[in-house]
Amino acid sequence: MTLLRSGSASDTGLVRSVNQDLAVETPTLFAVADGMGGHAGGEVAARLAVDALAAAFGRQPTGAGLSQAVNEANSVVWEHSRENPELRGMGTTLTAVGLVNEDGHDVLALVNVGDSRSYRFHDGELSQITTDHSLAEEMVRTGELTTAEAAVHPHRHILTRALGVSSDVAVDLWRIQPARGDRYLLCSDGLTNELEPAQISEVLSSVSDPRRAADLLVQAARTHGGSDNITVVVVDVVVGEDVDADAAPVVAAVNSDFAPAAEEAGAGPPGEPEEYPAAVADEKPPGRRERRRAKRRERRIARGRRLITFRTLLFVILLGAVLAGAYYAVDWYDTNSYFVGVNNNELVVYQGRIGGFLWYNPVEVKRTGVTTADVPATYVDALHAGVEESSVASALTYVANLEAAKNCELNPSSGFCAPTPGSSTTSPSTTAGSAPPTTAKAP
Ligand code: MG
Repeated sequence: MTLLRSGSASDTGLVRSVNQDLAVETPTLFAVADGMGGHAGGEVAARLAVDALAAAFGRQPTGAGLSQAVNEANSVVWEHSRENPELRGMGTTLTAVGLVNEDGHDVLALVNVGDSRSYRFHDGELSQITTDHSLAEEMVRTGELTTAEAAVHPHRHILTRALGVSSDVAVDLWRIQPARGDRYLLCSDGLTNELEPAQISEVLSSVSDPRRAADLLVQAARTHGGSDNITVVVVDVVVGEDVDADAAPVVAAVNSDFAPAAEEAGAGPPGEPEEYPAAVADEKPPGRRERRRAKRRERRIARGRRLITFRTLLFVILLGAVLAGAYYAVDWYDTNSYFVGVNNNELVVYQGRIGGFLWYNPVEVKRTGVTTADVPATYVDALHAGVEESSVASALTYVANLEAAKNCELNPSSGFCAPTPGSSTTSPSTTAGSAPPTTAKAP
C-alpha cells in the first residue's frame, strides 16, 4: 500500500500581472500546468488541460490511462482554441504524477509535455526525471550546448512540445516504484529559472512539511527575481512498498502502456525517453512521415514563440520612436521660441516659452541695457508678462522701437512722431500711440 502526502504553492511572481500556472492536488493525482498565449489564453489553456486530465484519469486510473488523459487534455485545449479565435495559439505545459495500481502493485505514473519539470528527491539527492521540450534542450541533446549554457540560452523558453497547439501530442511517460521517504517535486519553469538545484535541495532536505516546503521554494524564487509565474507541488511517499529505495527504478516509456517491469522494459535512464508521435507509439517506432509531422509541429511551436518575441520587440521600437519624436518636437518648439521680459527693471530677451513649457525653463540670451523707464509706460505691464518674438533679432528690434517711441513727439500735422530734442535715439519714427512696428502682442 502506498500513501502520499502533498502540498503546493503558486505565485504570480514579481513581473507578470496574472498567474497562468495551475497546480493540481488530489489524493492520487498531482500536476503543474504553465499556460501560454495572450492575456487570457494561458489561463484558459491551463484550466482546460488540468480539468480534462483529472476527468480522464478518473475514468481510467492507470499508467496508460494517465498518458491517454494527457492526449484528451490536448484535444480539449486544441478544439477550444480552434472554436474561439480570440484564444487561438493558446497552449500549456503539463507535468503530472498519478498513483495507480497495476498487477497488484502500486506505481507512480509520471507524464510530461513542455518545460515544466518533475524531480525525485531521494536520499538527499535531487534528480530531474523529465526532459524539457525546448529548443535549448534539443541543442544539449545534439551536443551543440552544455547544460550550463542551455540554462541561460535565449532559446531556452522556445518550446518544441506543448498541449493545445496541434491535434495530437507526444507524451513522455515514466513508471516509478514508490519508495517510502522519497519526495517528488513538480514545478513550472518560474522555479527552475531562478533557483539552482542545490538551493532546491536545501529546502527539500530541511523542511518536512510539503506545504511549507512548497511555500518556501516559491518565496525563494521570488527573492531571486520572480520573473515568471512560480508553481510548486511537493509529493511525499509517507507509506510505500517495502522496496530497496536505491533499486526503485525510474523507467521511461513513451505515450504507451507501462512496461510490465523495470527489468523487462530495457528503457533508458531517467530524462531520456525517446520521442514517439502519439498515433503510433503503442505499436511501433515512428515512420519517416510521422517524424516529419513531429518536426513540422516543433517548428510551428518555435515560430509561434518567436513571433511573440518579434511583436514585443516591434512594439518597443515603435513606442521608442514615438517618444523620441515627441521629445524632439517639444525641444524644437521650445528652443525656437523667444520673448522679451523684464528682470530688475531691465528688458531682457529670453529663449523658451513664457512661464516655461514642460521640462524647459526660459533661458536668458540677451540683456538689452534698456530699462522700463526708457519705454512708454503703457507697454510696461505687457513686458512684465512677456512679449513673444520670433527671433533674438526681432526681439531686439522690438526693444529699440519701444525706446524710440518713448523718445518721440507727435507731429500734429503729419500724425507721425519725431525724436524728442536732445534724445540720443536714432530709431525711425512710428505712429504715435500705436504699437511699435513689430510682431509684439499689443498690451
Ligand atoms: Mg512559465
